[in-house]
Amino acid sequence: MAKSATPRFGFEAHQVFWNEQGSIVCACCHVPYPGSDTWIWERWEEITPADMVEIDRQGGRVACEGCGKEPSRIARLTSSERN
Ligand SMILES: [Zn+2]
Repeated sequence: MAKSATPRFGFEAHQVFWNEQGSIVCACCHVPYPGSDTWIWERWEEITPADMVEIDRQGGRVACEGCGKEPSRIARLTSSERN
């Protein structure tokens, strides 16, 4: 299913999102429509490259719940950004 996935709602394929429950999904999976009730109530927001750097620094690992895609690869962190 992931092979033919395309970003929803005009997102870019590299974008990844999370909510206050810690659910993480890429733009191709079940991200709610921005500004919708679900988006607002669950406090969805994009995981920025800076967020990913911080997660990586703390030893965390994030992957899309829908397809398993790992944002750290999508973000293409350089070694200098990790330090
Ligand atoms: Zn996904």
